[in-house]
Amino acid sequence: MTRGDIINYLKQRPATIADLVKAFDRPAGAIEEDIAHIRTSLRHDPEWELMVQRPQCEFCGFIFDASHIKTPTKCPECGKEKIKPAVFKIEKK
Ligand SMILES: [Zn+2]
Repeated sequence: MTRGDIINYLKQRPATIADLVKAFDRPAGAIEEDIAHIRTSLRHDPEWELMVQRPQCEFCGFIFDASHIKTPTKCPECGKEKIKPAVFKIEKK
């Protein structure tokens, strides 16, 4: 598989890192690196952009910043460890 496969996948449906790990049978670290790379390469794309639904604490609702590709382990506000992972999607601008 290539990064192009991940791009095509995300054009069809939103996915979390865990979804992509399952779909492409690659370790989470490699997928996170691919997402970081895709984000950089799409930054200047005239047609497509990477949309990120940011990670959020399920307990207090704290929303993490969009730079988190990897799901944070702990909420800085309430200290709980129930974090909803970021959801990635590629959409037409
Ligand atoms: Zn919290």
